[in-house]
Order: sequence, then structure tokens, then C-alpha cells
Amino acid sequence: MPTLTDKKPVRPTNRALGRPAPELIFGDLWEYDPAPETADPKLKPRYELFIGGKFVAPASGKYFDSINPANETKIAEMALGSAPDVDAAYRAAQKAQEGVWGKMPGKERAKYLYRIARLLQDRAREFAVAETMDNGKPIKETRDFDVPMAAAHFFYHAGWADKLDYVAPGRRVAPLGIVGQVIPWNFPLLMMAWKLAPALAMGNCAVIKPATNTPLSALKLAEIIQDAGLPPGVVNILTGPGSTGGLIMAHPLAAKIAFTGSTEVGKVIMRSVAGTGKRMTMELGGKAANIVFDDAPLDQAVEGIVNGIFFNQGQVCCAGSRLLVHEPVADAVVAKLRNRLRVLRVGDPLDKNTDVGAIVSRDQLETVRGYLDAGVKEGAKMWQPPCRLPAKGFYMPPTLFTGVTQSHRIAREEIFGPVLAIITFRTVDEAIEKANNTEYGLSAGVWTDKGSRILKMSTELKAGVVWANTFNKFDPASPFGGYKESGFGREGGRQGLLDYCKLV
Ligand code: NAD
Repeated sequence: MPTLTDKKPVRPTNRALGRPAPELIFGDLWEYDPAPETADPKLKPRYELFIGGKFVAPASGKYFDSINPANETKIAEMALGSAPDVDAAYRAAQKAQEGVWGKMPGKERAKYLYRIARLLQDRAREFAVAETMDNGKPIKETRDFDVPMAAAHFFYHAGWADKLDYVAPGRRVAPLGIVGQVIPWNFPLLMMAWKLAPALAMGNCAVIKPATNTPLSALKLAEIIQDAGLPPGVVNILTGPGSTGGLIMAHPLAAKIAFTGSTEVGKVIMRSVAGTGKRMTMELGGKAANIVFDDAPLDQAVEGIVNGIFFNQGQVCCAGSRLLVHEPVADAVVAKLRNRLRVLRVGDPLDKNTDVGAIVSRDQLETVRGYLDAGVKEGAKMWQPPCRLPAKGFYMPPTLFTGVTQSHRIAREEIFGPVLAIITFRTVDEAIEKANNTEYGLSAGVWTDKGSRILKMSTELKAGVVWANTFNKFDPASPFGGYKESGFGREGGRQGLLDYCKLV
């Protein structure tokens, strides 16, 4: 590994590739040839609402801009849905629910889900570029994770639609009716798939709103839904601000509401629907502990820590935002982390070599900066690798804090940015006590060579998902969801289906 000097480094090259050898690149300080993804995202200048199988103008006649956070340019105009649109969407869903979808045999419904999955695969590159432009996440993530995982969710749930006898053996399952769904901006397309695939497989119709910042892939998915020939009204997509989401949650025709987003907004919604008898699932915030013991394979653990907190710029509900590290290896782990962070590429998300892209919005960037200030003011020590950020766009270097105590805000609150708070521990019980010392309970990670320790930790950690010697691994067959302030209900797997049906 070369050392950093004041002189401009001489760039080593990998002759076979004709490019700098990746393991020798020092952050943004090397001169570097960009490798932009060039697939056409096939964007329209304006996107309408998707109601009753058609694209329709909003009743208000109003539109808002979707902005590319990587360069602050406008991508497209999006329709602003309001009360008459929400009502029209529910009426369309009611017609589809009672007329077609609720009565259709599962094996017929499955065909539509398979079709949606295949069409998504066919247009995968286009979707990856559009998603990266709208959200700011690196193209290698949208290409290798978001889009294929979204297709995988439709495939997986298509497979369930004709096997409903196995959802709850001995019981018959029936659709709930219309579900109102609201999702966040961190995995816009994937969250659409998480919400729609199980709802449709179980025979429900949906009215869904993507996040205000990232509505693009939802409307592109509407094109696929149309092409797949899904009966009109089975899926209705409304774009707009939080108030549009509030109207979707409050509509009397919703049999169930499903929300993914912040704990704060989740509580507002729970209060607003209390007493209405609607079924509810809430996927909310997190503050996961990633716990590294002294017997862990440290290089592997460092990769897991980096993936755990810098994947999607740390804007992940289950991000490993608290590193709990065993005292005997704490210095070694921090040194290895610094070396690893120095070679992360921060910059244009459409560049295929970018590791850390743009933060989703100026507001979110300001929120994350506020946490950096709070961390420093409260006495923790901040470290960032040297890197040159693009002049335009919302960027934040990967950031480490050492000397963090459990009372610091950066150790307690969900930052939702590329910021890792590092805390040390001495014993297994202390690690468990510190990991559980949070109001959240979504995920955790354990790095150790001992199987017995993994079993103990996974039993005692109060988290919906516990990863062992890995982090941020997802599968449609694996249920996901939280405890405590991280919400209730599960998405994915057989357990996720139970939240979208009645047992009769
Ligand atoms: P957010 O709560 O601000 O917004 C989520 C969605 O709710 C958006 O579509 C927004 O427009 C809408 N909304 C806002 N106010 C509303 C209201 N009063 N009624 C109805 N809808 C309303 O969250 P965000 O900033 O978009 O996303 C980040 C949050 O999402 C983080 O807290 C993260 O942990 C959480 N999240 C959780 C999971 C999970 O599975 N547990 C997954 C992804 C994100």
C-alpha cells in the first residue's frame, strides 16, 4: 500500500486492464478515468398519476420536480396527487378487487406477477440508471442489488400465489381487500416490490405512494404493470408529498395500511388510524449494532463493517451504524477501517467504479451534517479520508467517530448517512447490553469464530434480523421487520404473506 505524500501520486496501472489497479487507488486524490454507465433511462419530461390502469393528470393540475441529487438538475415533473385523486384510486381499486382480482384463482394471478418480474429483468439496465439518477445511489448498487432484488420479489411471490394452502396449513386464506401503502426514498423500486408483490399474490389491490424525493421508478414500474396487462385498478400509484400519504392511510376503503419510513411519521399514522379497525404493518427506523469480537477474521469483518454502513451512503434502515468492537482488537480494526475508507471512491453515482454516491437531498445532507457537528460538540473524535467531492450535488465523505459513548446523539439517533459511531466493549454481556441499549430493534451483526457465541448473541439481541459474519444480506424468502420503535409485522417469506391475508 503506498503512503500518502504531499506530492501528486504517480498512478500505478494495471496493464491488463489499461486502468489504475483498483487496490492501489487512493480515494479521489488519484487522477482517474471515469467509467459512466451509458444505458438510456428512457425518461419522459412529465409523469402523471397511475389510476385504474391509465396515466391521468392530477385533479389539482399541479406538478413538482424530481431532482438528481448528484448534480442538482431537474429530471422530470411529477404529478401532485390530492384528495380527489386518492379517492379515484380507491374507487378503481374497489372495482378491480370486487370485479376481478379478489376472485381470480391464485395460479392466474401468479402469471401477472411472473410477467412483471420478467419485464423488469428485460429493462434492468434502464431501471438501474433511472433509479441512480433519482436517488443518487451508485450504479453498481442499482444494477447489482436494487433492480434484480425487485424482480426477485415478484418471482418469489408469484411462486406463492398458487400455493396458498401452504401459507397457513389447515386454514383457508382470503384477501384482505384494498391496501394503502406508503414507502420511503432509500430503496424506491425495491420498496415498491416489497409492498406490491405480497399484496397482489394474496389477492389484494393496492393504492401506493412512493417517497416525494424518489417517485421516478414507481412510475416506470407503472409502465411495466400496464405492459404486463394487469387488470386496471389492481395497482394505483400516486405521487406527491407526505399529505398525499396521509390521505392514502386515512381513506375508509383501505382494509390494511402498510408503511415503511421514519418512526416519527409511523407514529403520526398509527395515531391517525387508531380505532378504525384497519390492519397495519410498520417498518420503521433502526440503529443497528455491528459487533466485532477479537476472534473474528478482521479483514472480512472490516469489509462487513464498510458494507454495513456505507452501502447506499448509510441511508439504510438496518445499517450497521454502531460498531461495537472488542477492546483487544479495537485499534487494529480502526486502523484497517481507515485504510479501507481511503480507497472508497466518492462521487458521480453513474460512474461504475463509484462506491459512495450522493445523499438523496439537500435536506438530508444538512441533517447528516448536523449529526457531525453534534458528534464533535459532544466530545467524539471525527475522521474522514481525504477526498475531493464534486462541486455540485449532495455529497458526504464516509465518516468515522471514535471515542463515542452510549449517551452521544450519534450513538442513539438514526443518522441515515455514511457515519459510523465506534464504541468498545470488554465482555460478551457488555456487548449484548450495549447493543440492546437502543429504542430500535431492526437488525444486528455479529463477527466471531465461535458458533456458540453466535447462537447466544442471536438469542439475546433484540433485533428482527441478526447477521453472523456477514451484513446487509437480503432474500425474498427471509422475513424482515423490527421490534420496539423499529415497527411491527414482517415483510418477505411466509410470515410476510400472513400480514396480507385473512385466515378463515
Ligand atoms: P419518512 O417517514 O419521512 O417518509 C416515508 C414516506 O412517508 C414518504 O413517502 C413520505 O412522503 C410519507 N409521509 C410523510 N409524512 C406522512 C404522513 N403524515 N402520512 C403519511 N405518509 C407520510 O421517511 P423517509 O425519510 O422517506 O425514509 C427514511 C426512513 O425510513 C428511515 O427512518 C428508515 O429507517 C426508514 N426505513 C425503514 C425500513 C424498514 O424496513 N424498517 C426500510 C427503509 C426505510
